[in-house]
Amino acid sequence: MINKPLQSLSLYLHIPFCVKKCHYCDFLSAPGSEEIKEQYVKALIQEITQKADNYKNFYVDTIFFGGGTPSILSLHLMAAILKALRESFRILPEAEISIEVNPGTADEDKLMGYRQLGINRLSIGLQSANDVELKAIGRIHTYLEFQKVYEQARKVGFSNINVDLMSALPGQTLRSYQDTIHKILQLQPEHISAYSLIIEEGTPFWEIYGKGVEEGNALSALVRLPEENTEREMYRLTKKLLEQAGYVRYEISNYAKPGFECRHNTGYWQRHNYLGLGLGSSSLIENCRWKNETALRSYLKMQDTRTEIEVLSKEEQMEEFMFLGLRLTKGVSKRTFTELFGMQIEAVYGEILQKLTKEKLLVQSESGYVRLTERGIDISNTVMAEFLFD
Ligand code: SF4
Repeated sequence: MINKPLQSLSLYLHIPFCVKKCHYCDFLSAPGSEEIKEQYVKALIQEITQKADNYKNFYVDTIFFGGGTPSILSLHLMAAILKALRESFRILPEAEISIEVNPGTADEDKLMGYRQLGINRLSIGLQSANDVELKAIGRIHTYLEFQKVYEQARKVGFSNINVDLMSALPGQTLRSYQDTIHKILQLQPEHISAYSLIIEEGTPFWEIYGKGVEEGNALSALVRLPEENTEREMYRLTKKLLEQAGYVRYEISNYAKPGFECRHNTGYWQRHNYLGLGLGSSSLIENCRWKNETALRSYLKMQDTRTEIEVLSKEEQMEEFMFLGLRLTKGVSKRTFTELFGMQIEAVYGEILQKLTKEKLLVQSESGYVRLTERGIDISNTVMAEFLFD
């Protein structure tokens, strides 16, 4: 057999457990007993060892533990997963290894353990520095608890930390949001993700705030969401304050100090190969997409975990290239488009590019990139939909 040259690969590991569900959350996660967590990790390790054989020609340059709440696992379970990964995959010594941490589930010993296991990036889910807002969205921690975990992380030596923030929360005002940003800027994390609350169907918030809930019904006495114009102001404020503080917006909702962009997520937006491991995780390997089993019981039985395997057509690959790549503020490279698809971007999207450029939603730089303008970012969903084939 001819050995193909090595290619890079990202690994995503899904840990589907949380202490309790937040009111806005539609992620695949639920509370679980210690026994279930042990069983899950056993199944995950089995999946790791089974699948790794297919990736002998890949080297791993990023690993991301997401969820759910990966930090809910005790250290010995995390150690067992990392041991299996290191024994099964070719992991670069300089690989970025991230874990999502909920402040209600970590302490100094655990953080120190992460360091010893080679985890080098933390993503801490704060959402707001206001305890009333945290309670309103069902978070299990206070701001003080977050601060403590943040300080402990610095103390044990983490030098690459992301903090997740959310705007448009129930009861949130422009002032309270500004206060949250100021507090976080004082801490100087290397990376900040700032998303707006989206009311997802199937969540407790959908029942209260979702489409179809009539104005003035019995629930209207509950804390209200900010008005749309306040929400827009929050969005603009995020950019202004973070850029003033030296953060670079490198993706629609992500800001980093130079050199601290999340390599793992950037890989998603650039359609690099990634392998999802664990319940409900998604993979993209050489233009084949699939999703793992989403029912915990079936996953624990561990037959073939893959469902919904889909080989992407060339057109689907082009669509993804555009709407994922345009999320990055540097945009998409025309040269890469040609290398990947054997034709120039103008031959496929010429008319659309012209139209959107004329409408000042896109710019085409001299360095050969197509990117969204500020206005384009404001209505990014509409702009990206233009790149879908009928
Ligand atoms: S901690 Fe995260 S994954 Fe868990 S319920 Fe809250 S938002 Fe969802």
